[in-house]
Amino acid sequence: MERPRFVIEASEVESMAKESGLTVLQLLPSLVGSAQKLARPPISKFHVGTVGLGSSGRVFLGGNLEFPGLPLHHSVHAEQFLVTNLAVNAEPCLRYVAVSAAPCGHCRQFLQELRGASDIQILITSTEDGGEEEPRFRPLSHFLPHRFGPDDLLGKEVPLILEQHDNGLSLINDYHYDLNLEKLCNGGGNRFAELTSAAFEAANKSHAPYSACPSGVALVDTGGKIYRGSYMESAAYNPSLGPVQAALVAYVAGGGGGYEKIVGGVLVEKEGAAVIQEHTARILLQLVSPQCEFRVVHCRSVSNGLKKA
Ligand SMILES: [Zn+2]
Repeated sequence: MERPRFVIEASEVESMAKESGLTVLQLLPSLVGSAQKLARPPISKFHVGTVGLGSSGRVFLGGNLEFPGLPLHHSVHAEQFLVTNLAVNAEPCLRYVAVSAAPCGHCRQFLQELRGASDIQILITSTEDGGEEEPRFRPLSHFLPHRFGPDDLLGKEVPLILEQHDNGLSLINDYHYDLNLEKLCNGGGNRFAELTSAAFEAANKSHAPYSACPSGVALVDTGGKIYRGSYMESAAYNPSLGPVQAALVAYVAGGGGGYEKIVGGVLVEKEGAAVIQEHTARILLQLVSPQCEFRVVHCRSVSNGLKKA
């Protein structure tokens, strides 16, 4: 079986559309069924699939993730998966989204963290509005009028999700060779240093303008492959996506199999900050992969951060 793909290159998008006799925009809803199959919702069994078109012409897939044994707010919604997938692949802008079910309020709010959010065009493939004949794209402003978002709390110059920036962090801890981690990871070398460096990079890209507490997580699997995720905040706080969730999205989208193959994780965050990920991150990782060795490395701000990279 072909490995599921979460990113389709622009040239392939064009040829897929051509072969199917569709425009690129018509192609998006036709891929929603494939996206739904990639979701991992063991609690609800409700598979949500999203397909997004970025400004580069690439197409991104997303699905919802649920974690049995944890409160529901740890779940990753399909639209959050999609945005994280774009962020991991350095896509600068999300233009169109086709989704299998109406975006919930949480996701309508989360999407506000993207520049020009109101203009993102959304198509719901399941019938909506009680019998509208043909699903069509409509702007996010149609689904969430009178929005509360970054503009209410931040200056216009503050970079948002998908806008390249560097939080100006510096590592504090001295980190050394970590024997337990090395035993679990294949590939030789100092994997702890590699993981720390990946988590540090993710923390520097984290979108945390509301708390000024950025963080990042890097995970490594039994094959030695590293996956990184950046914490992403929402102006409304609760829809924020934790760094472990973001790294798990990178894991799923990057071809990772069962979560039990995750053997190591490093979190980089500020010590004693107002927002701390450590305890939640440990619980989540322990639950999805009990053998995972988890370490925390602290950082501090060396510049006021939020400068565009
Ligand atoms: Zn949602």
